[in-house]
Amino acid sequence: MTPAQFREEGKKIIDWIADYYENIEEYPVLSQVKPGEIKDSLPISAPQKSESIDEMIRDLNEKIMPGITHWQSPNFFAYFNSNTSFPSILGDLVSSGLGVQGMIWATSPAATEVETRVLDWLAEMMDMPESFKSTSTGGGVIQDTASTAALTALIAARERATKFQSNNKGLEEKLVAYISTQTHSSVEKGVKIAGIGKDNLRLIDVDENFAMRPDLLEKQIQKDKKDGLHPFFVCGTVGTTSSTAIDPIKAIGEICKQENCWYHIDAASFGTAMICPEFRHFINGVELADSYSFNPHKWMFTNFDCNVFWVANRDELINTFSILPEYLRNKATETGEVFDYRDWHIQLGRRFRSLKLWFVIRHYGVEGLRHHIREHIKLAQDFKNWVAESKDFEVVVEPLLNLISFRHIAGDDFNIRLMNTINETGKIYFTHTKLNGQVVLRMNIGQTHIEEKHVKVAWNIIQETAKKLV
Ligand code: PLP
Repeated sequence: MTPAQFREEGKKIIDWIADYYENIEEYPVLSQVKPGEIKDSLPISAPQKSESIDEMIRDLNEKIMPGITHWQSPNFFAYFNSNTSFPSILGDLVSSGLGVQGMIWATSPAATEVETRVLDWLAEMMDMPESFKSTSTGGGVIQDTASTAALTALIAARERATKFQSNNKGLEEKLVAYISTQTHSSVEKGVKIAGIGKDNLRLIDVDENFAMRPDLLEKQIQKDKKDGLHPFFVCGTVGTTSSTAIDPIKAIGEICKQENCWYHIDAASFGTAMICPEFRHFINGVELADSYSFNPHKWMFTNFDCNVFWVANRDELINTFSILPEYLRNKATETGEVFDYRDWHIQLGRRFRSLKLWFVIRHYGVEGLRHHIREHIKLAQDFKNWVAESKDFEVVVEPLLNLISFRHIAGDDFNIRLMNTINETGKIYFTHTKLNGQVVLRMNIGQTHIEEKHVKVAWNIIQETAKKLV
């Protein structure tokens, strides 16, 4: 394909995407296909001869679109958001167009320096501690997901706990990690990958709001120490996936400082709200953390994948992940004046992912971002009030931000039947979880293009369907 052909075909694809967004509400939100249906519609072998973009667009429409669940629909209320936005799509397109591999500063200085600057912007927008900025001892780096961020923190924590103990061979088996019963499963997975035994992961119980109980954390740490074990890592969460709880960030941080445990904070979804000063108090105490991460690819209008991960002391991270083979040696690295982000995470290669974040922040501006987040939280509160006023439904957890956990009073089976019946219509899509053994319905309100009318329609559908099913 020549640049001239790319120009022509590229316009068709941009038109296709714009048409998609103009018509997005006409698709069933949840894909209605059966397992194998999409695969069976595709040829068994790859084409021998070149095919045209027009043919691909035709197949996109006919074969691929039926198998799409429309995460960008304003009628999507499931899980957590995985938002994108037009500026983000454009930023990502430029990144694809440039096709740079920013593994070290020298392989494309802009890929490193834009990332450093944009993550410092974000730190400032969220009033993060100075130590998390690149201008101080720490800095931020883009990871693919919150799962990888937690794993990165775990490995750095393991390094900290064991580096001065090379003559203590059994130490790794004594390391103990602490999370709550509500912490996302990705942290448990990270513990497994980091080689920490299953028996050395403690699930600390939660209070009536599903937040980790620091008194029980402290007690468990003391018990483990007494048993000759070595506490090394604690993860606090801002916005637990099932229960939307916010762990007591400061109280946990104080215990971590006292016990020299690495303190990681996972704010995957709710982290975006910290842009608004009125919600920033949820992370008071973040200055006690060793690392903090959230996903702009959830609520901050930036398409997947984009997790931001900050550390208070970048040397600990770099010393953990840095290995310098001869073929990567270069003058810039040797000056010690540049960041080589390959030393800040697990993989070597990296895309120019900060471009999409740069486009998003510049397009909306800090004020624009705050406006949208506040609007989503207001809509979520409206929804909660409607649920609270209804005699057939109840609010299960008081929503702190934009996720409402609620249920119909008719019991577990009814709630599941209600949800499945509605989702099968394709009009809206929402999901469930279990809290204290009970089925709970979840409405996550934070879609890029959501408006009040979408939330009102969703509530009407839920009420009307419930009446029919009863
Ligand atoms: N942490 C929390 C609190 C989450 O809610 C999620 C996903 O919803 C994750 C981590 C995992 O996110 P990712 O897909 O970026 O790994």
